[in-house]
Amino acid sequence: MQDILNYVDGTLRPAASGLWIDDFDPAQGKVYARIADSDSKDVEAAVQAAKAAYPAWSQLSADARAEILLRIADLIDARSEAFALAESIDNGKPLALARRMDIPRGSANFRYFGHAITQFHSETYDMGTAGFNYVLRRPIGVVGCISPWNLPLYLFTWKIAPALAAGNTVVAKPSEITPMTAYLLAQVCIDAGLPAGVLNIVNGLGGKAGASIVGHPEIPAISFTGGTATGKAISAVAAPMFKKLSLELGGKNPAIVFADCDYEATLETVLRSTYSNQGQICLCGSRVYVERKLYDRFTADLAARVKALKVGDPLEADTDIGAIVSKDQYEKDLYYIGLAQEEGGELLTGGGPAPAPNARCKDGWFLQPTLLAGVAPHCRTNQEEIFGPVVTIWPFDTEEEAIRLANGTTYGLAATLYTNHLQRAHRVAAALDFGIVWVNSWLVRDLRTPFGGMKASGIGREGGMEALHFFTEAKNIFIKS
Ligand code: NDP
Repeated sequence: MQDILNYVDGTLRPAASGLWIDDFDPAQGKVYARIADSDSKDVEAAVQAAKAAYPAWSQLSADARAEILLRIADLIDARSEAFALAESIDNGKPLALARRMDIPRGSANFRYFGHAITQFHSETYDMGTAGFNYVLRRPIGVVGCISPWNLPLYLFTWKIAPALAAGNTVVAKPSEITPMTAYLLAQVCIDAGLPAGVLNIVNGLGGKAGASIVGHPEIPAISFTGGTATGKAISAVAAPMFKKLSLELGGKNPAIVFADCDYEATLETVLRSTYSNQGQICLCGSRVYVERKLYDRFTADLAARVKALKVGDPLEADTDIGAIVSKDQYEKDLYYIGLAQEEGGELLTGGGPAPAPNARCKDGWFLQPTLLAGVAPHCRTNQEEIFGPVVTIWPFDTEEEAIRLANGTTYGLAATLYTNHLQRAHRVAAALDFGIVWVNSWLVRDLRTPFGGMKASGIGREGGMEALHFFTEAKNIFIKS
């Protein structure tokens, strides 16, 4: 059984309490590693190490910091197969997906922000004969980064890389459900020569290790990605302490299909955007709205494609749908499949546990990808985030109705829309209350663009200069002429 240790002050160590938490392989439904069960003592040690490392790290030139970040990126690439395998085993996601998406993105985050910091600049405001203003953007100090289980390395590094690039030192906590690639990252950081204390990774439970980071008086900024309820709890602690907060929260994302779409490409993209990673991507669509004149044909074809998805052993090359990340999430998905039917939903395909794909996975948590029709838009199934392979489909008649349905939840993370009508694409995209809108596509990411949600999907934006602005304090200085 492997031990997943904390990374504090440059060394790998167990929690001060000596306690451990089980780490499950969801494809086998069994414990395969144990995680340091950290508490406020470990967080305190991490904060002190980060504080001690801050002066030297923040005063290094941007080029010198970039050099180390690029080395980390190169080492992730060099070990990509080990990272991909670890991510697949820890999370249940298809190995092919981890190879194609998660791990390359982990290294890309370090590479992108390593380069970006060398181009980072600030503003001047000339006031003519009165004088001029210039803006200093300096790192904040010790910052906290907390991330979820669905894209473990991808989201962990999406926070850590800009925080470090900007000159902060970091205390970070990965999800206790998927800590393995954060542990591999700690080893990479040691090998890349990241100075001790610059990045500290504290494993453990959200309510204990996570809450200790959020409530620590010497951590003035928190970047959090996770559920909306957790975001609310974090705000309640951090706001009265006047901490800087970036919250990337839950979603209930719509896909809007107009009859004038490119049919085959739309079908393929809607399928991918709803069931990838078992529907466990914050950007996955879970409400599909189809213009009525296309509805019957599109619904039948989508159901046939969903049915044809292969639920399989995550380690096998032809698996489309792997294991659900945890028993809790598996039971939550099943609950919502039942609720959707109570709310009038008609099962078009799926609807329950999937048979074990092989003997190795006989106790794993596998679900049939599920598509339901007839669930009214206001029902709980269509209002609450499920975060699994459970999707509804519903017809609409007019553009105005499609916009109203899409905007009709408390969430506002991402929306997709499919049309070949140029003006309509612009009109609808502008009217959607979502932080990200993809037209005729999904999950095309440019790391320079602002990323984040509106309404209950979060506060603030990550990505590109937005992230570097979040992880720095702006100070305006006026000089009289
Ligand atoms: P959670 O909110 O349960 O957990 C996220 C992280 O916060 C975990 O590391 C968790 O630790 C920790 N945590 C839990 N409670 C606290 C607390 N009181 N104080 C500090 N930290 C805490 O989310 P999930 O891990 O279940 O992830 C799924 C959610 O993340 C979905 O809602 C999804 O939409 C959202 N998400 C949003 C994205 C976005 O960009 N907007 C991207 C990806 C996911 P522990 O694991 O121990 O509970």
